Amino acid sequence: MKKLIIEKSKLVDNIDKLRSITNTPIIATLKNNGYGLGLDEFPKILEQNGIEFFAVATIEEAIKLRENGITAKIMMLHSTAIESDLLTLLNYEIIPTIGSFEALYVLDKISKENNVPLYAQLKIDTGFGRFGFLPEDMEKLINELKSHPNIGIIGTFSHFSCAFNEKSNYTDKQFNIFNKCVSKLTDAGIEPGIRHICNSSAFLTKLHMHLDTSRIGSALVGRILVQNALGLNKIGYMISAIEDIKMLPINSYVGYSNTYKTKFETKIGIVPVGYLDGLELKKGQDCFDLLGTLREIYSKIKSLNKKIYVEINNKNVPIIGKIGTNNIVIDLTDVDAKVGDIVKLDVNPMMVRPDIERVFE
Ligand SMILES: *Cc1c(COP(=O)(O)O)cnc(C)c1O
Repeated sequence: MKKLIIEKSKLVDNIDKLRSITNTPIIATLKNNGYGLGLDEFPKILEQNGIEFFAVATIEEAIKLRENGITAKIMMLHSTAIESDLLTLLNYEIIPTIGSFEALYVLDKISKENNVPLYAQLKIDTGFGRFGFLPEDMEKLINELKSHPNIGIIGTFSHFSCAFNEKSNYTDKQFNIFNKCVSKLTDAGIEPGIRHICNSSAFLTKLHMHLDTSRIGSALVGRILVQNALGLNKIGYMISAIEDIKMLPINSYVGYSNTYKTKFETKIGIVPVGYLDGLELKKGQDCFDLLGTLREIYSKIKSLNKKIYVEINNKNVPIIGKIGTNNIVIDLTDVDAKVGDIVKLDVNPMMVRPDIERVFE
């Protein structure tokens, strides 16, 4: 047995805390299966708590939200120039993103063929190097937008690459580039629509960058890479049960690679949860400067000897030996526990397979 438990009250508390530091609305970003919380109850709770705008990274996520009855505004985070994909987005009333001339021309073609005006958001590449028009594209973009009045711009946005690194000034640079691009649009008489650039890290640390709205994902689930000054709750933990118990003699190895040897006769419990369930899987940091890389290596080395605990009957119980694909072994010597007792484990929901049941309580 295993389930991912999501505590609604903690989620609502996170939404309230995030709201308390801004006067602007929030776009809840729901990529990666809604950061692991799923695309059914999670967006409904967000809606019930005043979030009226969602963002997704794939067409499949967008369709799933519509099929689950979400009628709120949904935007696509990526630019696509694939005509069939743009048609699907429009059919489901998802706001497309244009980040290239190619994408603009395809949208124009659809608009003309169907004889309807179409609306999209512009993505600006302020230094991420992925989707978006480059600053040097602005003059051409302005001309193209003026000659395509059938394409309406309802938003303009960009994405930070290092906002979690508070020591880097790259975020400020990107923000300045974005503002310059937006000014060029407005100076040329093109309204940029809603302007947004903050992800969670920037939203929490750079209040002056909130603009008209922010795209918030990881902060909703309280799993952020910047200092948690707001006291956001970490959302999501797994529960499973002790599947079997036995006594191991002194000097027995436990698990793959013989990394652990019992120092006493040891009562072990086996729990059917492992790497495949997302246990101890972490998303790596993306800023690979030398210092960042060294920090990653240091934290890996530190974690080699770090004990990892699960919780049984309100007691912390250590995992011994390596975490397996499907199982862990825990040391029950000092615990009053029996087969079937519930085991509580910390996991990042995003790393938990979508087929594992999500329970909101
Ligand atoms: C993932 C993503 C976000 C949200 O990032 P968080 O740090 O999880 O808040 C915002 N914008 C874009 C383009 C993204 O891909």
